[in-house]
Amino acid sequence: MNSKTLQTPIVYLKGVGPQRADLLKTELQIHTFQDLLEFFPFRYIDKSQYYKIKDLQNNSAEVQILGKISSVKSVPMKRGKRLVAEFYDDTGTMELVWFRGHKWILENLKTNVPYVIFGKLNYFKGTFSMPHPDIELLSEHQQKSNVKMQPVYPSTEKLNKRGISNKMMSSLVFELLKSYGKQIHETLSDNIISDLKLMPKAESVFNIHFPTSSENLAKAQFRLKFEEFFYIQLQLLRKNAVHKSKIKGFRFEQVGDYFNDFYKNVLPFELTNAQKKVLKEIRKDLGSNAQMNRLLQGDVGSGKTIVALMSMLMALDNGFQACLMAPTEILATQHYEGISELCEAMNVEVALLTGSTKKKNRKILHEKLENGELHILIGTHALIEDKVVFKNLGFAVIDEQHRFGVAQRAKLWKKNTLPPHVLVMTATPIPRTLAMSLYGDLDISVIDELPPGRKPVKTVHRYDSNRLKVFRFIKDEIGKGRQVYVVYPLIEESANFDYKDLMDGYASIEREFPKPKYQISIVHGKMKPEDKAYEMDRFVQGITQIMVATTVIEVGVNVPNASLMIIESAERFGLSQLHQLRGRVGRGAEQSYCILITGKKLSNEGRTRMETMTATNDGFKIAEVDLKLRGPGNLMGTQQSGILDLKIADLVKDNQILKIARSYAQHVIKADPNFKLPEHKNINITFRNLFKDTTIWNYIS
Ligand code: ADP
Ligand code: MG
Repeated sequence: MNSKTLQTPIVYLKGVGPQRADLLKTELQIHTFQDLLEFFPFRYIDKSQYYKIKDLQNNSAEVQILGKISSVKSVPMKRGKRLVAEFYDDTGTMELVWFRGHKWILENLKTNVPYVIFGKLNYFKGTFSMPHPDIELLSEHQQKSNVKMQPVYPSTEKLNKRGISNKMMSSLVFELLKSYGKQIHETLSDNIISDLKLMPKAESVFNIHFPTSSENLAKAQFRLKFEEFFYIQLQLLRKNAVHKSKIKGFRFEQVGDYFNDFYKNVLPFELTNAQKKVLKEIRKDLGSNAQMNRLLQGDVGSGKTIVALMSMLMALDNGFQACLMAPTEILATQHYEGISELCEAMNVEVALLTGSTKKKNRKILHEKLENGELHILIGTHALIEDKVVFKNLGFAVIDEQHRFGVAQRAKLWKKNTLPPHVLVMTATPIPRTLAMSLYGDLDISVIDELPPGRKPVKTVHRYDSNRLKVFRFIKDEIGKGRQVYVVYPLIEESANFDYKDLMDGYASIEREFPKPKYQISIVHGKMKPEDKAYEMDRFVQGITQIMVATTVIEVGVNVPNASLMIIESAERFGLSQLHQLRGRVGRGAEQSYCILITGKKLSNEGRTRMETMTATNDGFKIAEVDLKLRGPGNLMGTQQSGILDLKIADLVKDNQILKIARSYAQHVIKADPNFKLPEHKNINITFRNLFKDTTIWNYIS
């Protein structure tokens, strides 16, 4: 009787045992039979072909050759010896080489019988050799399989060292499929399978490991990728549906005096169409009974803040308080200053709460917050501390959400009867399809238009050796009354090294731009918050003309008079960071510039980054390139998202499949949100299995 199931721990698979099981767990996270089934090869070796020795090329590719051994000899080396076999086919001869395991080889190798060998080639002085080949008698080889394409599994150094070779992995999978393959059940509905002509599940799993043909491999890949996307989409859509139907929110009945006053009397410019469109979308959400969860995407400088403020005013109009949470103290302060200035003429109480708010002020602030005197609270993480209690928080804005986790968001409204409406703002332009997958539980608004009159920032790439010219350019800009940023990279791992770079840079700028004619600010991570604030402030006020900084100014700072952004060691920044940094200039009416300075030696990727930056100002285009260069796992804001643990699908390459999967998932959710229909039985079972450990995120819980 075979009582093992696919959930059985891997240690019980024939050929595994405790030691290997441990390795599989720690190195590859393979715990059960099922995990091994889902451990997919990342490429295949075409074994349908035999190379002729005369056709071999010196490119260290892996090849399969059919031939015979004529002789074996032992060759002494400095230390130990190596075993060399002469191998031939009807076109030539080559060598097989072993540096260890001599005894076994000498006892087992047969001369002049046909062998199939497989491995990487070396080439030395006119002779090809293959060290430690996979070697098999032709008779065994033929018996064993109709395998034409051999799977290659991901591995680690440790696994290799401990003797878990690719050959062993594939024979474990082979054993698993042979003994337990019958237990693989269909996971999709008959409808979807016939509609898309998908390969059935079990057949797909067989073919993904041991493809019977390249057509079947393609079918298996499509089917499994589709399935993977389908269930992720299903989960996201379901979260959305659960949240739409169950999470009640405050209904804002009216747009009142605060909003209207502001619109008529305060707003210093005409809103762009994109801003108007987004405000309408928000307005519509707020008027319904459900809680709003909306992601507002807009390139740097697109004017998200004003949209946020006007949304908060809608909350005030309905008797509620609002808050805005920013990732850094500098940003929070700047939001506070901008917003309280705009609100000055109106009867709106705005306050700032950060880590450095004094105890005394804090106490007053807490009181005003609790009795409702305070309308808008702006701050950092300090907003989510336990002591901060709103009278009635109705609207929360979160700026640059990628720095806040989901749990932190929920903390904001722990004491409310109902959760406030939430607007998450981000300037990281995540491509739309990716955003959909990542934030399936958020609705998305996009400001895809910059305020009129903005001149696109002119971007150039210069080498270190041209720094003197760059200095001259800085002088010219300052001469015209403008201000300049000079930014240095600061990467955690090399912090000390970077810090030295920054200080050296600062010293040379000080020499080139002497006081009192020039005033320089410096801001970096090792400074105390109050010193940072002081230096920032001098720059914002226009007292200093040059701001030398590490990436702390990356997000949000608004100094419209700054017209030049110099980025030192630009090759060390990612694309999205470069784009964010560049967004610090081009905020005023003047033509602005961004100069990317790099060393002469650039990697291909580094060069692509520089070329992309000089070619376009479009954040979405830049994000697409970034996604292609680095993969989604490295994009800001994606780290916490489960979608990146993809087993087989690729968000970029398989985008088309993602779209198909999403539309099928939408269809299923619409027709049968709880998968109760008999035709959705497979989906129901699979869904529950997949997501049994993840509680569906609930804002109220
Ligand atoms: P971001 O989307 O990067 O947060 P901000 O909200 O900081 O952008 O806006 C950038 C600048 O553009 C601010 O100085 C803001 O006052 C200005 N601005 C916003 N909307 C408009 C508009 N419709 N017309 C003109 N200027 C605008
Ligand atoms: Mg902003």
